Amino acid sequence: MYSTYEQPEFDVHDPAEIRRVIYEAYCNGKEAAANGRAADYIPELAKADPGDFGICVMGAEGDPIVFGEVEKRFSIQSISKVINLAAALKFLGFRETFSHVGMEPTGDAFNSILKLDTVSDLPFNPMINAGAIQIAGMLSNVMDFGELLDFARAFCMDDGIALNEAVYRSESETGDRNRAIVYLLKSKGVLQGDPEKTLDLYFRMCSLNVNARSLAQMGLLLACDGQNPFTGRHIVHPGYIRTIKSLMFTCGMYDESGEYGVRVGIPSKSGVGGGIAGTVGHRFGIGVYGPALNKKGNSAGGIAALEHLSHLLKLNAFS
Ligand code: GLN
Repeated sequence: MYSTYEQPEFDVHDPAEIRRVIYEAYCNGKEAAANGRAADYIPELAKADPGDFGICVMGAEGDPIVFGEVEKRFSIQSISKVINLAAALKFLGFRETFSHVGMEPTGDAFNSILKLDTVSDLPFNPMINAGAIQIAGMLSNVMDFGELLDFARAFCMDDGIALNEAVYRSESETGDRNRAIVYLLKSKGVLQGDPEKTLDLYFRMCSLNVNARSLAQMGLLLACDGQNPFTGRHIVHPGYIRTIKSLMFTCGMYDESGEYGVRVGIPSKSGVGGGIAGTVGHRFGIGVYGPALNKKGNSAGGIAALEHLSHLLKLNAFS
């Protein structure tokens, strides 16, 4: 899936060149989508059109650059793990948050129970299901879904975010693996909240309706150190943003995080709804929608597009 590119010979800060490269990335992404398929383990997700593809790149000044399906709403899925982590850091603090969840990548699938049962009592990190469920348990003691939704809207700079009821129902009816995780956490005595209340909050957060634009805005908020660049409002402390970006880099793309880090090198988080949110230095946010997924559960088109952007615009964090 990944390919290698020549180093660019043009000025990677020239707006016209940036626009041209984003269009190429969009074309590559749309083409690569043919190699993937929509998730079906949550029945409602199987209804997505696998041919859909859209990309939005947004900086703090000027209009966003958009191509394709950027307004269409879809469920945020695992990208909500970034919001849950940000809320935990903001409302509970670093020390309390990481007393109950680790910071290490697992190399296992996002919904794996293996290491949680055999290696560590605490979930490895907040970007896998076990870790995000653990954080949802902590949050469920201090806020309700309405308050977390308000935070999600501020974090994505998008007041249009709402609960997708159909996805929420589909998830709660079929989410037995997540049910297993919450009860495993309870059996180990590490779960911080009531198991059913915890799961309900986790499922609701996975079912938020976003679009590629809201994901680009999330990436932009992270690029702006937690401040909304349009209103000046501080949403999350800059010190916490560094923690969030680090975990996105090391754990944000499930068990593809290592290869993605080498080949793309942009702190990103994906979801099985087909979204990817990326954040580039202090420059801009990138949001992608492509519900055709690769075998690891990441948007096939999204990865192709982000790899193209990263190489041509030299966006790798270590470039
Ligand atoms: N709601 C999904 C689940 O819990 C989220 C997974 C994902 O996007 N990787 O299985």
